[in-house]
Amino acid sequence: MYRTHTCGELRMENIGQQIQLSGWVQKTRNFGELLFLDLRDRYGVTQLVFNMEANDFLAERAKRLGREFVIQCEGKVVERSNKNPKMPTGDIEIIVNDFRILSESKTPPFTIENDTDGGEDLRMQYRYLDLRREEVQEKIKMRAKVSIETRKYLDGLGFLDIETPCLIKSTPEGARDFIVPSRISPGQFYALPQSPQTFKQLLMVSGFDKYYQIVRCFRDEDLRADRQPEFTQIDCEMSFVEQEDILNTFEGLIKHVFKTVKNIDLPSFPRMTYDEAMQKYGSDKPDIRFGMEFVEMNDIAKGKGFSVFDNAELVVGINAENAAEYTRKQLDELTDFVKRPQIGATGLIYLRYNTDGSLKSSVDKFFNEDDLKQWASKSNMKPGDLLLVLCGKTDKVRKQMNELRLEMGNRLDLRKKGEFKCLWVLDFPLLEYDEASNRWFAMHHPFTSPKKEDIQLLYTDPGKIRADAYDLAINGVEVGGGSIRIHDKTLQAKMFERLGFTDEEAQKQFGFLMNAFEFGAPPHGGLAFGFDRLCAVLGGVDSIRDYIAFPKNNSGRDVMLDSPSTVSDEQLKELNIKVTL
Ligand code: ASP
Repeated sequence: MYRTHTCGELRMENIGQQIQLSGWVQKTRNFGELLFLDLRDRYGVTQLVFNMEANDFLAERAKRLGREFVIQCEGKVVERSNKNPKMPTGDIEIIVNDFRILSESKTPPFTIENDTDGGEDLRMQYRYLDLRREEVQEKIKMRAKVSIETRKYLDGLGFLDIETPCLIKSTPEGARDFIVPSRISPGQFYALPQSPQTFKQLLMVSGFDKYYQIVRCFRDEDLRADRQPEFTQIDCEMSFVEQEDILNTFEGLIKHVFKTVKNIDLPSFPRMTYDEAMQKYGSDKPDIRFGMEFVEMNDIAKGKGFSVFDNAELVVGINAENAAEYTRKQLDELTDFVKRPQIGATGLIYLRYNTDGSLKSSVDKFFNEDDLKQWASKSNMKPGDLLLVLCGKTDKVRKQMNELRLEMGNRLDLRKKGEFKCLWVLDFPLLEYDEASNRWFAMHHPFTSPKKEDIQLLYTDPGKIRADAYDLAINGVEVGGGSIRIHDKTLQAKMFERLGFTDEEAQKQFGFLMNAFEFGAPPHGGLAFGFDRLCAVLGGVDSIRDYIAFPKNNSGRDVMLDSPSTVSDEQLKELNIKVTL
């Protein structure tokens, strides 16, 4: 037997017991007469004491113990004279009477403690050691908890967990596919799924009614911070449902997860249309932990001789409450912020409502006191507030203002950690136009159903068609999204046509789905949550990487395995692949 207890388990009531523990040596402190050793496993840390004078043989061997050795020990639980209230096992210690080394360890490349001295790269390279650190283990444990609670909830509602294949044919979710060469069919390739979208729809045709899967998805996207080429979704689909059924079912899931994992009772999730979200926040995933809604100012800002405003499609402001004291330097910083190429504004205009009641703007030349009073009243300013104004093309300026709003939210500490605000964003546009390729693209994916009342716009005003598509945002992060699907073959064919597919192309790529729709497809819809992202949101951290046991770095590399890497000529030959670099 290796152990009678774990290293996180022993308490005062175990005093006097003879026990056995196994684990890793976290650290040793040798005081000559006594040697203290912290023994760690995934459950916690227990202090061992070696009486170095009582037993020479034991003492000699104990001196050899280094960090991260794996040992098994036997000893007696005693009360500590010097208790450590910070450790759950801090009331007791083990007087060791014997131990054996199960495995030796080289000195680890960084300290295996929460406050580690290891840099990011080194920790990624030795991820298995990083995973020994308590704070990293806690994240992985929380992920497992989110997974099991998701399963419990969905299973309780009669959802079936059904696996779908990983070696498939390309699914169009808007990203690039990873492809896998087939040895048996030379010159042919599988694709890894960007999501199980078409399979879950086929499962509805098969009559499974309520499907879910916690499933790996693969997208070969250009690397952006916090993207992983492979990530996990909670993927769900239901038959005989309308949007309302989906929203209620999955609002229930998120509430269940928050309650069971964080003991937080979430109130009903507010809802907002895409148009409203763009108008008020310039984002389809607004962070509603704080207000600072956009104030459209065309009616009061244009026509006063300030050509920058006069030439703009939209003049828009945000009221940063209690920020009138911002110094010249701070305002310059904000101006630099909006002018950065990633944001691309040409300038920033401000109005200070000083605490003495006076108004001071950066465009006093063009606007008199009455004008500025109008600005202040339209944006609900009170003395002490600061109005920040941008202008330009509507779409662009809204995006820029979204960035500025979030920046001000950070600066004014309005994006509180530990506070969670969920929001359904509804009625996404069905299509978006791509200037570069001169064609329409599905905003969500081509299986998304247009709103019935908008179908007639398919050829007259496609950009105006709204879809039965929805996203869930939590604290400004998109954690999930989905739609009601098209289940009618004719409408699906029309959609492909609108997206620029010829009949043959549509048949070649999606024939299997359109054919299936000829055999009795039920009305259906669903959604998928980004599982890693949901975990990160629950944990209050920005990076999804922390919640993945073996993540890739920001360049899509697994630095531990050193992958991707070249393969042997032999392998390439078998696959009929010639690499010419
Ligand atoms: N397959 C979609 C996605 O990955 C989700 C859905 O529509 O259910 O975004």
